[in-house]
Amino acid sequence: MTSAYKILVVEDSKVFANLLKSRIEVDGNYRVSLAMTMAEAKKILSEENDFFLGLLDLNLPDSPQGEIVDVVQSFQIPIIVFTGEFDDNMREQILSKGIIDYVFKESSSSIDYVISMIHRITRNRFIKALVVDDSKSSRQHQINLLALHMYQVMEASNGQEALKILEKEGDVRLVLTDYNMPEMDGFSLIKRIRARFSQEELVIIGLSAYGNNLLSTKFIKNGANDFINKPFLSEEFFCRVTVNMNLLEKVRALNDAVIRDFLTGLNNRRYFFEAGKKLFSSAKRQQIHLTTAMLDIDHFKKINDTYGHDVGDLVLKQVAMIAEKHFRTTDIVARMGGEEFAILAVNLSPDKIEQIFDQLRQFVAEEEIMVNDKTIKVTISIGVAAEIEGDLETTLAMADTMLYKAKNGGRNTVVYCTDDHPEGIQVGSS
Ligand code: GH3
Ligand code: MG
Ligand code: MG
Repeated sequence: MTSAYKILVVEDSKVFANLLKSRIEVDGNYRVSLAMTMAEAKKILSEENDFFLGLLDLNLPDSPQGEIVDVVQSFQIPIIVFTGEFDDNMREQILSKGIIDYVFKESSSSIDYVISMIHRITRNRFIKALVVDDSKSSRQHQINLLALHMYQVMEASNGQEALKILEKEGDVRLVLTDYNMPEMDGFSLIKRIRARFSQEELVIIGLSAYGNNLLSTKFIKNGANDFINKPFLSEEFFCRVTVNMNLLEKVRALNDAVIRDFLTGLNNRRYFFEAGKKLFSSAKRQQIHLTTAMLDIDHFKKINDTYGHDVGDLVLKQVAMIAEKHFRTTDIVARMGGEEFAILAVNLSPDKIEQIFDQLRQFVAEEEIMVNDKTIKVTISIGVAAEIEGDLETTLAMADTMLYKAKNGGRNTVVYCTDDHPEGIQVGSS
């Protein structure tokens, strides 16, 4: 495991602090240091200051007015504040310090909220956001806010620049765009973005100082996910950004689950046929060379029977990992079910086919899979159909026939067929 993120909690209620600590540490990704007073917090910070986040009670015995915030902030540590109800003045004062968020302690859902915010901030550090606004001050304000929530922020002062950045980066997940901009307004920009990136790929939030109901409706109709009127409270800004990013991730996770095998993380059978059919139809047009293979673990039932189903699962994961690593990211490696995998290799040179698949066979055969105090070894058989004219189904059936021959040929072996040798050629061990 990578080392846990360190979180400093300064809270004088022991019950609340301990509850918070156990909830935050539950999945092992975070480690909490507890301080009950500002003095204790100072002592901890003098010894270690590489904290990822600070969760601070605004009201401590030796810090009645939120002085703790300045102390922790002087170590460049991002802060979430706990507080009782406060007045507008105090709110102004706290927010002006540039904290991530504040949470009302009395609310029963406050711990859930803090946990989800910690997770949000952790993920944000890997998320690219783009601010598009022709006003430098407005742009800077949004950039500062997003940076506070640890997004990787980029900026553009007009639509053309924005489109260039999106194209170059490829994986921007959040775009904030102004409406009123010279040359290309916010609507045109959104239309151009949506022609390229769907609602499942990136969130667009429109902003404008000329806000009225019609404008926000038009933003949404043009493909934005949400709209914020300028000027805005930072709380509203963060709420809209956070809600939309959470939703985007949920949708992406759902979509991913549909095409992924739960156990191994490989693509599943459904994806193999969907993507495979597309590859086959473009292969004909573009002279792409496709090699199809079926792979099956030898005597896998015996592994289950000898060591149990859990160990069988471990073996499946290990074989899946070796197979996936062995091919390019543009190839498809899928679990078809049970202990059977299919591979679609793109533009694999015909004189390399034998070597590539036999190497895979060897890698699996040599791998020592550690299970508790034992090491287990397994072998695989592979059937390959290369240079075959035909659709995905026919080619896959050919590969399956070759796999059958590999099993009959003694297992731990590769059998491949080409147009010249439809009966198949056996290579490798056995
Ligand atoms: P062969 O060399 O002929 O392929 O023999 P085999 O034992 O590998 O093949 P068989 O098809 O007889 O057995 C496959 C076994 O895989 C049977 C099934 O219980 C097991 N299996 C299928 N899916 C899973 C799974 O997700 N996890 C585990 N642990 N076992 C699975
Ligand atoms: Mg098998
Ligand atoms: Mg089988």
